[in-house]
Amino acid sequence: MTNFRPVWAEINLSALRHNFQAIKGYTKSEIMPIVKADAYGHGAVQVVRTLKEEGIKRFGVAFLEEALELRYNFPDLIIMVIGPTLPEFSEFLVKEDIIPEIFQVEQAIALSEAAVKFKRIAKIHIKIDTGMGRIGFRETAFEDITKIASLPNIYVEGIYTHLATADWPDLSYVQKQLTQLDELYERLCSAGIEIPIRHAANSPAVMQVPASHYEICRPGLIMYGLNPLEDGPRDVMLEPVLSFKARISHLKTINSGDSVGYGRSFIADHLVKVATLPLGYADGLRRTMSNGGEVLIRGQRVRIIGKVCMDQTMVDVTEIENVAIGDEVTILGRDGDEEITAQELANKSDTISYEILCGITKRVPRIYKDN
Ligand SMILES: *Cc1c(COP(=O)(O)O)cnc(C)c1O
Repeated sequence: MTNFRPVWAEINLSALRHNFQAIKGYTKSEIMPIVKADAYGHGAVQVVRTLKEEGIKRFGVAFLEEALELRYNFPDLIIMVIGPTLPEFSEFLVKEDIIPEIFQVEQAIALSEAAVKFKRIAKIHIKIDTGMGRIGFRETAFEDITKIASLPNIYVEGIYTHLATADWPDLSYVQKQLTQLDELYERLCSAGIEIPIRHAANSPAVMQVPASHYEICRPGLIMYGLNPLEDGPRDVMLEPVLSFKARISHLKTINSGDSVGYGRSFIADHLVKVATLPLGYADGLRRTMSNGGEVLIRGQRVRIIGKVCMDQTMVDVTEIENVAIGDEVTILGRDGDEEITAQELANKSDTISYEILCGITKRVPRIYKDN
C-alpha cells in the first residue's frame, strides 16, 4: 500500500543476520528466536523469512494467533507457543502442528483428547516455575508431569523454565532456578521419563549464563540488536535492527510569548523556528517525551517542544541551518554521528527498551532493507 504519510520504521535485515551470527558466538545450542509481539515490532513474517535463510527451523511466539500467522506463511516451520493456550483451543494446536507450553494437567488432557481425535501425536513442552512466579508447574511438578507423560498421543519433547534475573550482575538467583530445573529433570529421568530438550536462556542468559543454554536457547532482544544486560554494554557486536523515521511536514517561526501545543506547555521567550512532525503518541512516540525528548535532524539533536499530540509533534529547529520541509527526522536510530537508542528513549520514559520497540504501533509501516 502507498505510504501516504512520511512516517516509517526501517528494518535492517542484514543487521538481523549479523546479530544471529553474534549469538552463535555465544552458544553451540540450537537457537529458537522469540518472535512474539510481531517480532518485537519488527514484523514476524519478514524476520522469520530472513532467519530461516540462516538455517533456523524453530521459532517461539506468545500465543496462538501469533503462531497461526506464522503457520499460514511457513507450512514447514517448527512453531512453539511460549505462553498459555486455553484447553478449548487444543484442536487448533493439533491441526496446525503447533507446540504448546503446558503448565496445567487439564491442558494436557484436552490436548491428548484432540490428538486422539485427529490421530496425531501432540508434541508439548512442559513449563516449570522455578522462581519467575508467573506460570509453570511448581510444588506438584513431578506428579503432574508423570501423569501427563502417560496420556495417550502426547509426546513430552521439552521441559523449560524462565529466568527472572538473568540480566543482573549477581547470578545467584539464576543458579538457584537452574538447580531446581536440573533436580526435577534428574528425578524424571530416574523415573523413566526422558525428555530430549531442556531450555531456559533468554537474551541475557545467552550472553552471560552458559549453564542455562541446554539444548535450546530462546533469545529475543539480542536478535534485534539491543543489549539486555543491566550493567550496560558487554558486547559491541550487536547492531540495532530497527530505526524509526519521519519527514518534517511544516515549518514556521514563532515570536516571544507564542505557545506550542495543547495546554500551552511551551511558551517561546525568543524567536523560535518550529518544525512540525507528522507522528505522535499513537505511533509510539511517547507523550512522556513532551518538552524534553529529542529527535535527530541533519545529524543534530533537536528538542521536542510542547506536548506530543496523538498524530503530530513539534520540535525546536532554530539551530538547524537550511532546515526544510521534507527533511528526514530520526526518532530512533542513527543520523551521521548522532544516535538515539531504544535504551535512551526507555530511560527518558522510565521503561525498558523492549517496551519502546513493541510500542511502535501497527499504523507505522515497516520498510525492509537488505544490503
Ligand atoms: C520473551 C521471552 C523470551 C525472550 O526474552 P528476551 O529477553 O527478549 O531474550 C524467552 N523466553 C520466554 C518464556 C519469554 O517470554
